[in-house]
Amino acid sequence: MIGTRVKVSIRCKRCGERFVLRGKQEKGRIETGFKQCLCNNQADFDIEPME
Ligand SMILES: [Zn+2]
Repeated sequence: MIGTRVKVSIRCKRCGERFVLRGKQEKGRIETGFKQCLCNNQADFDIEPME
């Protein structure tokens, strides 16, 4: 198995922008390929898997 496909909700803690992406969940880690927000924030996010 290569990991579970999940929908992921990402919210920027700096500007509040929300993104919904598809990602892969592997051993508690979520891989989305998401790089940065529109406000150049690259690290400060709330990331939650959606059902
Ligand atoms: Zn932002």
